[in-house]
Amino acid sequence: MIPARAALAAFVAFIATAPLFLPEFQVALLDYIGLATLISLGLVLLTGVAGVMSFGQQVFAGIAAYTSAVLTTRYGVSPWLTLLIGLAIVAAVSLFLGAITLRLSGHYLPISTIAWGIAIYFMFGNLEIFGKYTGVPDVPALASGHAMYYLIWAAALALLVASSNLLDSRSGRAIRALRFRAVMAESFGVDTARLKAVVFLYAALFAGLSGWLYAHYLRFVSPSAFNVNAGIEYLFMAVIGGASHVWGAVIGASILTLLKEWLKGLVPSGIGASGNYEIVVFGVLMMLLLHRASAGLAPVLARWAIAPHRRAIAPQAAPLPRRAHPAAGVALLEVRKASKRFGGLVAVRELSFGMRAGEILGLIGPNGAGKSTMFNLITGVLPSDGGEILFLGERIDGLAPSQIARRAIARTFQHVNLIGAMSVLENVALGAHLRGRHGTLRAMLRAERAEEARLLAEAARQVERVALGAHLHDAAGSLPLGQQRLVEIARALSADPALLLLDEPAAGLRYAEKQVLAALLRRLRAEGMSILLVEHDMDFVMGLVDRLVVMDFGEKLAEGLPQAIQSDPGVVEAYLGGVA
Ligand code: ADP
Ligand code: MG
Repeated sequence: MIPARAALAAFVAFIATAPLFLPEFQVALLDYIGLATLISLGLVLLTGVAGVMSFGQQVFAGIAAYTSAVLTTRYGVSPWLTLLIGLAIVAAVSLFLGAITLRLSGHYLPISTIAWGIAIYFMFGNLEIFGKYTGVPDVPALASGHAMYYLIWAAALALLVASSNLLDSRSGRAIRALRFRAVMAESFGVDTARLKAVVFLYAALFAGLSGWLYAHYLRFVSPSAFNVNAGIEYLFMAVIGGASHVWGAVIGASILTLLKEWLKGLVPSGIGASGNYEIVVFGVLMMLLLHRASAGLAPVLARWAIAPHRRAIAPQAAPLPRRAHPAAGVALLEVRKASKRFGGLVAVRELSFGMRAGEILGLIGPNGAGKSTMFNLITGVLPSDGGEILFLGERIDGLAPSQIARRAIARTFQHVNLIGAMSVLENVALGAHLRGRHGTLRAMLRAERAEEARLLAEAARQVERVALGAHLHDAAGSLPLGQQRLVEIARALSADPALLLLDEPAAGLRYAEKQVLAALLRRLRAEGMSILLVEHDMDFVMGLVDRLVVMDFGEKLAEGLPQAIQSDPGVVEAYLGGVA
């Protein structure tokens, strides 16, 4: 096992010295690998991490390449200026395409990326100014000798490190939640639509930079380099290399470039015929590889060779500022005739209840009573069909979950909503998202380390609070369910909430674990926390809550002190009937 830093240093040393000992032909291959790395790196962020599949990244490379080719050859503009112009156009196009396509769900988004890929390819091929299908020749060189090689690799290495920094930050945690945990991220204040657009923009800019370098490296630009096939290849590179791993971009770009080169020489001579047989062999090899390592090669190599990387925690980091919490007894939450229908089913029917700061209110009822639906109305995950919800006197129904999170309401999920591959520490740090403010650019430059240290220290404190300190660096998905529920609570606590909403935190816990959880909730109340506890398990809530609201078939059945509820005939009939 070698440390990640040593592996990086070895790779940089190889890149720096390769032209000194490799034949020109192989240096040229490395040039192509560097150019492809830039594009597939964007796809690692966009597709592998954020879950937005694009077959159209070659378009952004093409736009920057043609911009530079046309402006330098026809108008004599300096290539360094055309880089800025090209990237500006790429940014504008990607923001426009992102605005219309990122909303699309399921298969429609990848299909639309193919559509724009085809459209722009034909635009390059048919317009006079772009030289139609013959292209634009005599693009000026940027540098002579190996300088171009070093320029390409300086760009690739810089962006690899920047991307790696990005994923290791406050914004990076939010980006890693986009693919499968967008609802959760929204609930902790992440504006997921905006963040997706930002990642889309970065991926487009990476491709644009590659296209600009390509135009001045090859000194010739033609449409064939930017057809849909190219887009598919870049996606392949990211997937083969390991789409969720920054270094997967280099691995994928290297493997595809070298394999294509090797097969091109090998296959036709072997079967004595010409034609694109290498593509067939290539396809078969890719299928075999994905069959063996479905997450790509980077995670496999990392497991074998790279020592696991642990985020360092600085316990001496200054604590994050805490907000002023409402004084005990203040009217905190007021639900007035809230309703929610799913088609013909009325899941919540004109439900009203209130809670005061500092109390634990239990919302109980049999399965299907509408508890989680009520919970999702309060947190904005579901839009309500009627009624009002007020928090500290302000209406919050109709607000987006991320806006409700800003009002210091934090929640857990009935179905545990953690990022399984991410450490407990980082999952919990995501809860403190709104307590940091530095964005993606600072993260890439590692200029937010002071804030990041405070966020991680806070997360570590909350993990200690739920007694999971021993599992700080374990992948959240590797813990048993009971502990994952505690991680959910720690994540909600790191938001410094004024109101904590817990949806069946005791489900799936063993008796001893429930005792630990109850003790934790009592401790939180003693510290002044207000808790709305949705629970199915009567025994668990009875000794714990201050007051109870009982739901059945979407309606309020009873409300009052636990003792009174326990002996309420209606409740006993509807809820405890089978048990008693
Ligand atoms: P509880 O949390 O009390 O067990 P829920 O709020 O999850 O109950 O569900 C209340 C009722 O609404 C159930 O009959 C459930 O099947 C239905 N329901 C919940 N969510 C949806 C949904 N997204 N679409 C359709 N029906 C739903
Ligand atoms: Mg439920």
